[in-house]
Amino acid sequence: MGRLVMKFGGTSVADIDRIRNVARHVEREVKAGNHVAVVVSAMAGTTNQLVEWCRQAAAVHDAREYDAVVSTGEQITAGLLAIVLQDMGIPARSWAGWQIPIETDGVHGAARMTNINGDEILKRMEQGQVAVITGFQGIGPDKRVSTLGRGGSDTSAVAVAAALDAACDIYTDVDGVYTADPRIVTAARKLDRISYEEMLEQASLGAKVLQTRSVELAMVYKVPLQVRSSFEPPDSANQNKPDGTGPGTIVCDEDKIVEQHVVSGIAYSRDEAKVSIRRVKDQPGVSAAIFGPLAEADISVDMIVQNLSPDGAFTDITFTLARKDLRKAIEVISAMKGKVGYEEVVHSADVAKVSVVGIGMRSHAGVAAKMFKSFADKGINIQAITTSEIKVSVLIDEAYTELAVRALHQAYGLDKK
Ligand code: ADP
Ligand code: ASP
Ligand code: MG
Repeated sequence: MGRLVMKFGGTSVADIDRIRNVARHVEREVKAGNHVAVVVSAMAGTTNQLVEWCRQAAAVHDAREYDAVVSTGEQITAGLLAIVLQDMGIPARSWAGWQIPIETDGVHGAARMTNINGDEILKRMEQGQVAVITGFQGIGPDKRVSTLGRGGSDTSAVAVAAALDAACDIYTDVDGVYTADPRIVTAARKLDRISYEEMLEQASLGAKVLQTRSVELAMVYKVPLQVRSSFEPPDSANQNKPDGTGPGTIVCDEDKIVEQHVVSGIAYSRDEAKVSIRRVKDQPGVSAAIFGPLAEADISVDMIVQNLSPDGAFTDITFTLARKDLRKAIEVISAMKGKVGYEEVVHSADVAKVSVVGIGMRSHAGVAAKMFKSFADKGINIQAITTSEIKVSVLIDEAYTELAVRALHQAYGLDKK
C-alpha cells in the first residue's frame, strides 16, 4: 500500500464537472489501496482575476492583503473537491495551508516553505480519509497566510509529498513533459523520463509545466515525481505500475534514464526584457557600480554582454532581466547616471529567450554551433547568448519565438523518435 500525493492544476478543476472527474481519479487510487492526499490549484482563471482585483483596488498594495485575497482561489477548490468526494462516499476533509500547518518564511507573494507538520494528516490518511490541501500557500512567522509565487501549487504538492514520504503525481492538461511546449510545436514528443537536472533547467528557462522550485525540492528530497494528464479517462487501463512507471513522464535521477539524447528539449520565455547602457567608461569598477545597485534593488540580471571598446575608453553594456522588473531597473539606472557617467540607456521588452537543454551536452561538442546555424538559416538575429553545462540560451526578437522553437526542435532531430 503506497502513499500518494495527487496535484491537480487550474484547468483540471476549472468547473464542477472537471472537479467530479478529478474525484474519480482520486477514487481510483483510493480503491487501489493507496493513502491519498490531494493538492489543488485555484479553478482556471481565478488567480488571475484575484490578482487583477488587487491591482484595481490600488496599483500599489499591501503584500499581506494581496496574499489574503489571492490565496482564496485554492480554498474554494479544496472545499468543493472535499464535498464531491464525500458525496461519492469517500471520506475527505479540506485543509488550508495554515491548518496543517505548512510553515513559510513569510515573504508575502514569494514565500518559501520552511516546515510541514504532516502528523495529523498522516493519522487521518491511515484511517482512510483523503486530505484535500490548498496549494500555493502556507502560514508565515507573522501568522498570516503567505503565497508561494505563481504556479506554486506544484511546489506545495512536492513539499507535502516529501513531508509524508509519498510519491507525487502532478495532473495537468498535457499528458507529460514534452520535447517542447506542445501548444506551439505540434511535432513535440512526450518523454517517458526526464532527469531532475534537465527538468530544472527546462522549468527555469520557461517551460511552465512545473514550477522551478518544485523540481528543486523533488531533487533534494528524492520525491518520485510524475507529470500526467487529468484528461485521460479515470478508468483508463493505463495506470501507475508497481515498478514506479506510469502513463505520464517520470522525473528521476539521470542514471535511471536508459536512452540518452544530447538535447532533450527546447524551452522559451517571453518574460524577458533587455537594457543597454551606452558609452560607459571602460575601466575597473564600472560593472560593480552598475550591477551593485540593481542587486540591492532585488533585480536579478540574467545575460550580460559587454562590447569590445574600439577606442579603449568607452564601451556598451547590455543585460537582460525579467520583464516585470524593467521599469524599476530603469529608475535605478537613471539614479546612477551621475556616478557611472554613461551616455544613454535604451531598453526593449520585445525580446524572448529560447534555450536548448540536454545533459548530453556535457560530452558533445557542436550543440551551440547547430543552434546558431539554424537561426542563421531562418534569418533570426541573436542579441545575446548564455551557456551552462547543460543548456544554451539566446535572446532574440520576440516575434520570432515560435519560428525559433520549431526550427530548433527540427534541427536537433526531436521531431523524430
Ligand atoms: P496547471 O494549471 O495544471 O498547473 P500549467 O499551465 O501551469 O498547468 O502547465 C501546463 C502547460 O505547460 C501545458 O499546457 C503546456 O502548454 C505548458 N508547457 C510548456 N512547456 C512544456 C513542455 N516541455 N512539456 C509539457 N508542457 C509544457
Ligand atoms: N493558483 C496559483 C496560480 O495560478 C497557483 C497554481 O495554480 O499553481 O499561480
Ligand atoms: Mg502550473
